[in-house]
Amino acid sequence: MYLYNSLSHKKELFTPNDPKLVKMYTCGPTVYHYAHIGNLRTYIMEDVLEKSLRYLGYPVKRVMNITDVGHLASDADTGEDKMLKGAKRENKTVMDIARFYTDAFFADCDKLNIKRPDVVEPATNCIAQYIEMVQKLLDTGKAYFVGGNVYFDTSTLEKYYVFNDHDEEDLATGVREGVEEDTNKRNKNDFVLWFTKSKFEDQALKWDSPWGVGYPGWHIECSCISMKHLGEDLDIHAGGIDNAFPHHTNEIAQSESYLGHKWCNYWFHVHHLNTDTGKMSKSKGEFLTVSLLESKGYDPMAYRLFCLQSHYRRNLVFTWENLDNAVTAYEKLIAKIATFKAEGEVEETALAQLKEKFVNALNGDLNTSLAVTAVYDVLKAKCNDATKLAALADFDKVLSLNLLQAAAKLRKKQTQEEAASADPEIDALVAARTEAKKAKNWAEADRIRDELKARGIEIIDTPQGAKWRKV
Ligand code: AMP
Ligand code: ZN
Repeated sequence: MYLYNSLSHKKELFTPNDPKLVKMYTCGPTVYHYAHIGNLRTYIMEDVLEKSLRYLGYPVKRVMNITDVGHLASDADTGEDKMLKGAKRENKTVMDIARFYTDAFFADCDKLNIKRPDVVEPATNCIAQYIEMVQKLLDTGKAYFVGGNVYFDTSTLEKYYVFNDHDEEDLATGVREGVEEDTNKRNKNDFVLWFTKSKFEDQALKWDSPWGVGYPGWHIECSCISMKHLGEDLDIHAGGIDNAFPHHTNEIAQSESYLGHKWCNYWFHVHHLNTDTGKMSKSKGEFLTVSLLESKGYDPMAYRLFCLQSHYRRNLVFTWENLDNAVTAYEKLIAKIATFKAEGEVEETALAQLKEKFVNALNGDLNTSLAVTAVYDVLKAKCNDATKLAALADFDKVLSLNLLQAAAKLRKKQTQEEAASADPEIDALVAARTEAKKAKNWAEADRIRDELKARGIEIIDTPQGAKWRKV
């Protein structure tokens, strides 16, 4: 499988440290509010990556954190803790907020067929691990304690901006726009590993530490949770593109300084879902959630298809019109699949040919839009229905669009509708008309048709015989 690696800026052949177990870490949600459908785009594409790896024969262990402390309103080290903001907004405790929005997040994931990672760890579970890492960074001169906080010293690194070739000055100024400079920092890029002092003294969650009562920085949680469950060598680290800087950049700085060797080989970044007026954000008042889509009558599967139709490394623009197009595509797809009958033997050669395009699409940097066209190829293929159904079931292990389940549901609905509108008397008249036509008794056939018309019934002649409907 070829995957684009943000570290090398190119597509690379994916080679795990141990093909018997791919170690994958993904940054989890900050549980201070509902996830918006932009956040969920990232989780859908990470889900597809994990399922693709499994489909292609790699066992995967995937770990995800739940950020319930330390993520400040700015991704830099200033601003209020997002969790505290959520608690104040709703007049609840931070832990109540965390519990409620963690559950809401997984409920959204369920609706979108996003599999739960093998390990899900709340950041507040691992305070001892953070303290241990921070202490070692201090002991080895990679961190310093000043003004009540522990900072990572970026001047100890050979290279800090590992993901981009930006001018360091520009990037630093851009990030700090509107954010007050912390005069305790020795270098402008240094970041906080452990806070005991911040502008917001009412931080709700605090723990004892060798540096005083305080709380961890946001970046350290991902390094420690990853190492706790996946060890010192990580194959893939994933997240949204906004996480590349400063979050992932800082994760690499502290992890590799702590370990003394390279940490993660592949960095997978999903680009943003934008609205037609810009980036989707939770601070802009009402924002788009899965529940909002559902309340407007949208099937979450249509949103999943909408995401799969574009490549994860392109920005995707959300408009209602675009979503409507995905709904139409999804409904047509399901209606077509509903006509297939599970009869006959699967034709293995034909199935292998259908799978080839699908596998190639995944292998080519997770080209999901091409993988979706492989589904359309199945619909048009010159093989029996059993083979088509087998191919669709196989592809859906990765796509998770409920292809066969939704088709079965539609068939059931159609059968129920037919049964509800059944009328033996009308059926008999329609059958009598068919007989009259066969006997070339046109006058009788016309008489029956007119009689039915007078009763509000229209006859439709189809290749499968005459059908009727109420008009
Ligand atoms: P957060 O809950 O803010 O920590 O974000 C959860 C995930 O969503 C992170 O991986 C972010 O990078 C990602 N993310 C944030 N905004 C967007 C967006 N508009 N489109 C796609 N992913 C996003
Ligand atoms: Zn993270």
